[in-house]
Amino acid sequence: GIRSLLDLEKVAVLGHGNGGIVYKVHHKKNYNSFYALKVLRFDQNGIGFRQPPTLEAEILKRADSPYIVRCHAVFYNGDCNGGGGDLSFVMEYMEGGSLYDILQQHHRLPEEVICVLAKSVLEGLNYLHGMNIVHRDIKPSNLLVNEKGEVKIADFGVSHVVEGRFKGNDMNAEGTCAYMSPERFDLERWGGENADEFVGDVWSLGVVMLECLLGHFPFFGPQQRPDWATLMCAICFGEKLEMPEKASQEFQSFVNKCLEKDWKKRGTVLELLNHPFVKRNSCSKKGMEDYVLCG
Ligand code: ADP
Ligand code: MG
Repeated sequence: GIRSLLDLEKVAVLGHGNGGIVYKVHHKKNYNSFYALKVLRFDQNGIGFRQPPTLEAEILKRADSPYIVRCHAVFYNGDCNGGGGDLSFVMEYMEGGSLYDILQQHHRLPEEVICVLAKSVLEGLNYLHGMNIVHRDIKPSNLLVNEKGEVKIADFGVSHVVEGRFKGNDMNAEGTCAYMSPERFDLERWGGENADEFVGDVWSLGVVMLECLLGHFPFFGPQQRPDWATLMCAICFGEKLEMPEKASQEFQSFVNKCLEKDWKKRGTVLELLNHPFVKRNSCSKKGMEDYVLCG
């Protein structure tokens, strides 16, 4: 087992984002057992932080699903009297990296693979939503793949626990806007209408799926790098995205339900788990195993 961080040795850096650094580590007594170690540094004022990392730790520790990245231990290092410190998560190592890495390499994925991905994300969301947790940051770099080709949801850095009602807007500029649903952009609605937060994750899944099929972020052309305002306008006020003609009817219908701008009309996780796109036979044949990079 892992009793403390001293049992682990860093081997490589796997990634860094807003929250901290993720290392590939191995157990000092067993060089063949790898883990991913995410280290979040925080100071007294919470600066350098998206939100206190205790919620991320709590979600990771409690989640027990094959569709959510597993966390073996959480260690806190630092001053308990309100000072700063490090929070470290020892997670299962996902050899294939993230869907972001896979798309960098392969550019696009066939429908049979997107459908397995969609099914896994929906199962993960169904589990999280059952715990009243909205992920709020579903995007390629937060979907991880292991050597078996299984897909799991990671990174609860901006997740949120739903307590019946909206508590007002706490939209965070540091979160990624690109995969955010229109209703999350729509500040006026926050606190007003009691939007179903869970379907925000469904929107993001739709964007990810279309990106996998097209090979680029679907709201813009392959080379475009829009700023925040342009992005918001396209997502909230632009025409509904046309589905690619080459896509099957099932794919088009599924993604259309995810990308319904009006959250009241959007497909729910349970509806989509029963959609023909993920129910058809060809959807169980192939996972992501051929796309795993394994460096
Ligand atoms: P951040 O909050 O900084 O976005 P993430 O938890 O999303 O942190 O991790 C950042 C990156 O590190 C991921 O996009 C992925 O490339 C890599 N990573 C994170 N966790 C793992 C893991 N368990 N196995 C392999 N790679 C991981
Ligand atoms: Mg991330």
